[in-house]
Amino acid sequence: MTEMNSSPIAYAVRDAVAYVTLDRPKYANAQNSAMTYAIDDALTRAVNDDDVAVIVLSGAGKHFCAGHDIGTPGRDVDESFDRRAMIYWDHVGRKGVDSRFARESEVYLGMCRRWREIPKPMIAKVHGACIAGGLMLAWACDFIVASDDAFFSDPVVKMGIPGVEYFAHPWVMSPRVAKEFLFTGDRFDARRALDAGLVNQVVSRGELDGHVDAIAARIAAMPAFGLALAKKAVNQAEDLQGFRSGLDSVFGLHHMGHAHNAEIAGDSLNGMDVRNLRG
Ligand code: ZN
Repeated sequence: MTEMNSSPIAYAVRDAVAYVTLDRPKYANAQNSAMTYAIDDALTRAVNDDDVAVIVLSGAGKHFCAGHDIGTPGRDVDESFDRRAMIYWDHVGRKGVDSRFARESEVYLGMCRRWREIPKPMIAKVHGACIAGGLMLAWACDFIVASDDAFFSDPVVKMGIPGVEYFAHPWVMSPRVAKEFLFTGDRFDARRALDAGLVNQVVSRGELDGHVDAIAARIAAMPAFGLALAKKAVNQAEDLQGFRSGLDSVFGLHHMGHAHNAEIAGDSLNGMDVRNLRG
């Protein structure tokens, strides 16, 4: 596992913009806990750097992110990590729902919430696949710019689970479209995602980097505290409309799905192999 010796995240700063890049291209940037914590380290570094005004999150290689790591050699669901998103016990050594709930509260729901509240604007630059766990990363950002080869899906209903842990679906698109997205597990291509309001803008693959750089430069020219307040204002409005409590209530349903799978099939992910669904 030479892969474990290299960081799953690349970090660079240019012209007031921090570029945080998912860097497991061999595995379509499948998200393990090592990556989650490396993202958190990178975002913390960007927030602490006064020369950084805007953060861009993207993926190296052919895809943005194929989802949570459920089958690569770097899968690390049984490992302990620092707990930062919340004060809760370690999942390792615990059983059943107790273990799953502790782990997913920290590494998925807790982390995404923590990232959403970063006081600097975050742009997700999405190309290729953005599937399930990849959606969580993009949705924790403020803005999504996609290239025309991007596609989005959440196929975890095929695993008997009502969507990924960070259930922003009916907030980032209309409830009817969210149902279609979930019930079918279909891929939305970039144009459909734009129509659904799931992304802000779509450009050609060749234009993506330059387009995002130009947006980031415009945002970076705004007052930093004004941006932080504007971001908090929109987030607070969403929370007042029930976003935060909605995440918590659906997280319970998500764990009911895992528990049901474990009870009837002995596997919290049940039978559907979502690796086959990666682009
Ligand atoms: Zn889960």
